[in-house]
Amino acid sequence: MKVTCIGTGTMGSITRGNQSIIADDILFDIGSGVVKKIESMKIYTKSINYLIITHAHADHFVDLPNFLIGRSIRKENKETLKIICGKGIKEKTIKLFELCFGDGNKNKYKNFEEGYNVKFIELSNGETYEDESVKITAYDLEHGTCKPIMGYIVEKNGKVLGYATDTTLCENVKKICEKSNCVFLDATNTVPTKMHMGVEEVEWLAKEYPKAEVYAIHRSDYVHSHIKTINFPEDGEIINL
Ligand SMILES: [Zn+2]
Ligand SMILES: [Zn+2]
Repeated sequence: MKVTCIGTGTMGSITRGNQSIIADDILFDIGSGVVKKIESMKIYTKSINYLIITHAHADHFVDLPNFLIGRSIRKENKETLKIICGKGIKEKTIKLFELCFGDGNKNKYKNFEEGYNVKFIELSNGETYEDESVKITAYDLEHGTCKPIMGYIVEKNGKVLGYATDTTLCENVKKICEKSNCVFLDATNTVPTKMHMGVEEVEWLAKEYPKAEVYAIHRSDYVHSHIKTINFPEDGEIINL
């Protein structure tokens, strides 16, 4: 699996973009600014067959119109894009399009999936989507009052990739770490907050689950050069798993 780090930052970071990675043909999260970063890296949306969305906060979700409209303009929408997400994300997506581009026309997005050639696959805790190329399992995480907030395990070509942001340290984060060969984790601050893990918890998880290579993302701009047990990827970095 080839992982390209599109963004490794959190809102407020002045050095890095909103968090997003691409693992082979799977894009994780589509927050503000992600699409222009992808385009500037000359990554074509036709090479992305799956979009995994964790939740509907702006730094993970609101660039979806840019993505789907750009994909249509460039005619990169011949294949159906599978959008894997929590319950209710399809409805929120249509509301986002109505807000931004509806121009008062209530029926504009009646046939949304056909219009953009996408298929929403909304998963609840423990549910799995599987086809000949990939197996994706969703897990409930804990992120203040935000619901749904999903973490994921992606199994592809014998590798298991975990992705758990935004979240506090809950049981399902441990489950994701336990099952993964490599895991991308919320390390927003140095210490935990009510909505996010801190890097000290991510270090603890790396110690507790040594089988998983740990990558800290969704980071604010703190100093981490003294921490050697986990990885701190930068925007644009490519990781071969
Ligand atoms: Zn969030
Ligand atoms: Zn976030």
